[in-house]
Amino acid sequence: MFESPELQFAAITVLLTFSLFLFGFIHSLIVMYVPFFENRRIQGKNYKVGLLWKRMPLIGLNAFLLLTINFVGLYFGYDFFNHDGLPAWWIILLQVLFIIFLDDSYFYFYHKFLHDNKWALRNIHGVHHQAIMPFPLEYIYVHPLEWFMGTFGPFLAIFVAFAFGLPINQWAFWLYIIIRNLHESDIHSGIKTRFMNKIPFLAPAEHHDLHHSRPFGNYASTFLIWDRVFATEIKSEDVKKKKR
Ligand SMILES: [Zn+2]
Ligand SMILES: [Zn+2]
Repeated sequence: MFESPELQFAAITVLLTFSLFLFGFIHSLIVMYVPFFENRRIQGKNYKVGLLWKRMPLIGLNAFLLLTINFVGLYFGYDFFNHDGLPAWWIILLQVLFIIFLDDSYFYFYHKFLHDNKWALRNIHGVHHQAIMPFPLEYIYVHPLEWFMGTFGPFLAIFVAFAFGLPINQWAFWLYIIIRNLHESDIHSGIKTRFMNKIPFLAPAEHHDLHHSRPFGNYASTFLIWDRVFATEIKSEDVKKKKR
């Protein structure tokens, strides 16, 4: 379909990411408008009327910028990936875990800095924290500079793997994109977790939801590891106790 493999790789990745944004939009509509989910909300409140549409201009701008910059970056960064067909399942699994772990580690420190630095919190990260009770697609309701800096996480993993002579396979990268976007959509859904809390060290929706309702602590988004190591984990039970 495309003349060059670089163009094909960049186009498929961008199309995949766009489809996941579209999923996030549908997920938001369901969570906000289907009555069945009202009883499953973590914060048990209703969304303000017209909230989704009020958020759409910045979400749309971010989606456009993200897809455009990704397209250009992946086109020119084609050689940093392995494109030798589909590898064994365990290689894909190891590579996906490697990207997610490095991405989550980077995100923890970067996100904590955005809270510790009052200027950054007020002028940059404060945009994302307009969401007290988030809806799924609000994972890209952020200051454009914030997500731009945030994209260093996965690319750090890609550069490290490349530097050690084991470049990330394109299929592993695509699977990482699917998992990361679906997980972000889930932890911003405000819907009580049914099975994510059964997986050891995986942060359920309650973890990040609490970060939005009470924005101190729970800085990691995928794993609970760094919040436990640096004692920044908060739990809803602790918040309730303090309120008493
Ligand atoms: Zn968030
Ligand atoms: Zn935050």
